[in-house]
Amino acid sequence: MRKKIVAGNWKMNKTLDEALALTSEIAGMVKDEVRSDTTIVLCTPFPYLVPVLRVLGDGSRIAVGAQNCSQHEWGAYTGETSALMLASLKAQYVIIGHSERRQYFGEDGKLLAAKVDIALRSGLTPIFCCGEPLEVREKGGHQDLVGEQVEASLYHLDEAQIKKVVIAYEPVWAIGTGKTATSAQAQEMHAFIRSQLAAKYGQATASDITILYGGSVNASNARELFSSPDVDGGLVGGASLKSREFVEIIKACSTPASP
Ligand code: PEP
Repeated sequence: MRKKIVAGNWKMNKTLDEALALTSEIAGMVKDEVRSDTTIVLCTPFPYLVPVLRVLGDGSRIAVGAQNCSQHEWGAYTGETSALMLASLKAQYVIIGHSERRQYFGEDGKLLAAKVDIALRSGLTPIFCCGEPLEVREKGGHQDLVGEQVEASLYHLDEAQIKKVVIAYEPVWAIGTGKTATSAQAQEMHAFIRSQLAAKYGQATASDITILYGGSVNASNARELFSSPDVDGGLVGGASLKSREFVEIIKACSTPASP
């Protein structure tokens, strides 16, 4: 179902004490200041999932997600974490195919398709990332590449399944660089992704899919980025590590602005 979502990707940052302090600060500010129905997700490192969930407590309006999962269900895969394990902890989301996983861990479209499947089968919502490197955009190949990434990892899903996936368009050149896509660039790509989904699944299904923008979103640029009709919120890296900044981004996702 299409919703507004702001998800923080903490990556491999923070000690446990720092992570718990950040969680408490965000939860307190959200409770006091955020009136909107924007879904808020904290994608923490694996070891912090349970402690963060404990700090949030039962019935929190903040959900928790992981940053990766295994493509396998169970078994002899030393060092891996399964989607079922994540679901059993009460994580609700999992980032799949972040560009850092594609780049540093060689994850390709076929592997990511398997991860999306296992996440869905385990009851998790995959946040599937796609996006082009700078050299591809400079040559004008960005839509082709993103179209291929989405096709390779998602097009085997049926209509009911694809509606459960959140897509995050994250141009690689904008991740952690301070260089953000303009709202026109984000809207153009989001509309393109939605049109591809419409061609495959029909307009009604495509209109029901949440597409987030990620890449140096901060408190100053979030409102403009999120104002585009096909941008349903953000996947936020660096700025999600600062409680005030992250909460301002959540507020920017609300329409009209929350008090
Ligand atoms: C990310 O890690 O998904 C991301 C978008 O990072 P940043 O906001 O720091 O660019």
